[in-house]
Amino acid sequence: MQAIIVHAPHDLRIEELPTPTAQAGQLTVRIKAGGICGSDLHYYHHGGFGTVRIKEPMVLGHEVSGVVSACGAGVDDIAAGTRIAVSPSHPCGLCRYCQEGKQNHCLDMRFYGSAMRMPHVQGAFREEIVIERHQAHPVADHVSDGEAAMAEPLSVALHAVRRAGPLVGKRVLVTGCGPIGALVIIAARHAGASEIVATDIAPKALQTAAAVGADRVIDMAGTPDGLQDYAQGKGSFDVLFEVSGTERALRSALEAMRPGAVVVQVGLGGEISFPTNLLVAKELEWRGAFRFHEEFAMAVELMNRRLVDVKPLISASFPFTRAVEAFDVAGDRSSQMKVQLSF
Ligand code: ZN
Repeated sequence: MQAIIVHAPHDLRIEELPTPTAQAGQLTVRIKAGGICGSDLHYYHHGGFGTVRIKEPMVLGHEVSGVVSACGAGVDDIAAGTRIAVSPSHPCGLCRYCQEGKQNHCLDMRFYGSAMRMPHVQGAFREEIVIERHQAHPVADHVSDGEAAMAEPLSVALHAVRRAGPLVGKRVLVTGCGPIGALVIIAARHAGASEIVATDIAPKALQTAAAVGADRVIDMAGTPDGLQDYAQGKGSFDVLFEVSGTERALRSALEAMRPGAVVVQVGLGGEISFPTNLLVAKELEWRGAFRFHEEFAMAVELMNRRLVDVKPLISASFPFTRAVEAFDVAGDRSSQMKVQLSF
């Protein structure tokens, strides 16, 4: 069985790994589709991000779907042949945060394709993988393999939206419309937002934001003062989802926020400063949103019940044997949203 393994920046190889066998309580899964995420691209281009660096060869990938090929002993509630989305979240279940229901803060988290710990947690861009039963979420027949692989980024978006609190009737601004930003638009609309305005600088991102339901999209490259009208009368928006991770986007957006507004920081941009004068004078609330846990089941349920449509985000798909080409294409924000691999 083959896997996509990163050895160093721009050294991505397709290599043979032993075929795994499911133990008690586990499932063997034949992977069908996998989405390339920003973190996969960071490992590919830079060998990591922040202080996280690849120290040994690592299989990439954490946004995958597949079909159950074998069940380990004691697993009798899911059958071989079941199509599933695979949750890459594998918390310990024992630490104090798991016990509090905050599994995304688990002290012993094993998240696929992550070099945060040593040995690294190997990822899911491989033909076969062994998972725990609880990581398998069956998908409906009408949900394609590619859509099922979107359950992971949709979970991130749902978690961000839940961090914002109730959105019914709220005016929402989303800065940064890559895959996560576009999914935040979908999730915010589903949660009852009355108006959603989205900003970006890439035409493809703006086009997708409109396609998934943003009421208005603003090209901040062409119209850098495009949010100025919303800054009148101390601001217009109740909630900001800052997904770009850039200080410039945050600053221009804050002027457009109403007093008491909630700012959910989803994008990671290293060190960015927050204008404390606005935080104080407008009594803003700045909240982080990190990964997800229970939202994975919600994401699959929303797709299974046709309550959300993630298809507009999938911009290209390559056979996994062309992984290098796929990774190069995925880095082009001007033409791509979510690039997927098929296995
Ligand atoms: Zn834990």
